[in-house]
Amino acid sequence: MSGIEGARPYDALVLDLEGTICTISFVRDVLFPYASKRTEAFLRKNLHEPHIKEVIARIRADSAEEIAKGDRDVRSIGSNDEAAIGDIAKNVKYWTKKDLKIPGMKELQGHIWKEGYASGDLTAELFPDVMPVLKQLLVPIYTYSSGSREAQEQFLRHTKEGDAALYIRYKFSLADIGHKREHDSYVKLADAIGKPAQNILFVTDIEEEAAAARTAGMRALLMIRPGNLDLTQFARDNFECAYNLAAVLTKEDIERCYSLRQTPESDLLRAAIKSYRTPQKK
Ligand SMILES: [Mg+2]
Repeated sequence: MSGIEGARPYDALVLDLEGTICTISFVRDVLFPYASKRTEAFLRKNLHEPHIKEVIARIRADSAEEIAKGDRDVRSIGSNDEAAIGDIAKNVKYWTKKDLKIPGMKELQGHIWKEGYASGDLTAELFPDVMPVLKQLLVPIYTYSSGSREAQEQFLRHTKEGDAALYIRYKFSLADIGHKREHDSYVKLADAIGKPAQNILFVTDIEEEAAAARTAGMRALLMIRPGNLDLTQFARDNFECAYNLAAVLTKEDIERCYSLRQTPESDLLRAAIKSYRTPQKK
């Protein structure tokens, strides 16, 4: 039995990041502006690195695609280096402002954040229940985020709570799975994990993502966190909802948690177990 009421056991857990294991604000107010401000300087410094050349080519293609779709605010990327840097920086600012999930930009952000974490400029922060729960789970855990794999890796490795990447088997991104509100992405995800969709539990803060996962046969849990958008009544009525990640613990996990020696971390865990349920799911 899972900690989620009425739920069957599951064999794999897939976690969203923003609004699920960390605040939306960290991503929007810290990470995005950090990358946006440093795009030009970063590109100038790393222009001749092969992996950055690939990112530039990707953004060039993404820009052409967005222009072809009719977005007249996107710049076509200039052919010489200096022009390309300026054009990419402008497009990154514009896409960031509109919160568009442009794959090339996501790749670039991942590389810029990597430098930020390495220099100590950036430190990620998880919701307090996350790390203690990750440590207790026996099923394989995956992430699926709009951020690139590198961005997820760096984020998870550099949290105030320690190295959370240790607990994640694989980090799926837009580049390998596709957009998070589309049915096909979750078919692909189950395929990549190698388990039947109905044995996979997907946790997110976004109703449309939960709905897309469910159409592919997955189970979905909606997370209610400080700073998230309010869920609709429809979402509250039709999905399992929880206030923290202790909701994914199975009955056996919970029993094990209660037998743990008392430490600040096991105290956090027990507090999370007591408080994950939403009023509708008593
Ligand atoms: Mg999210």
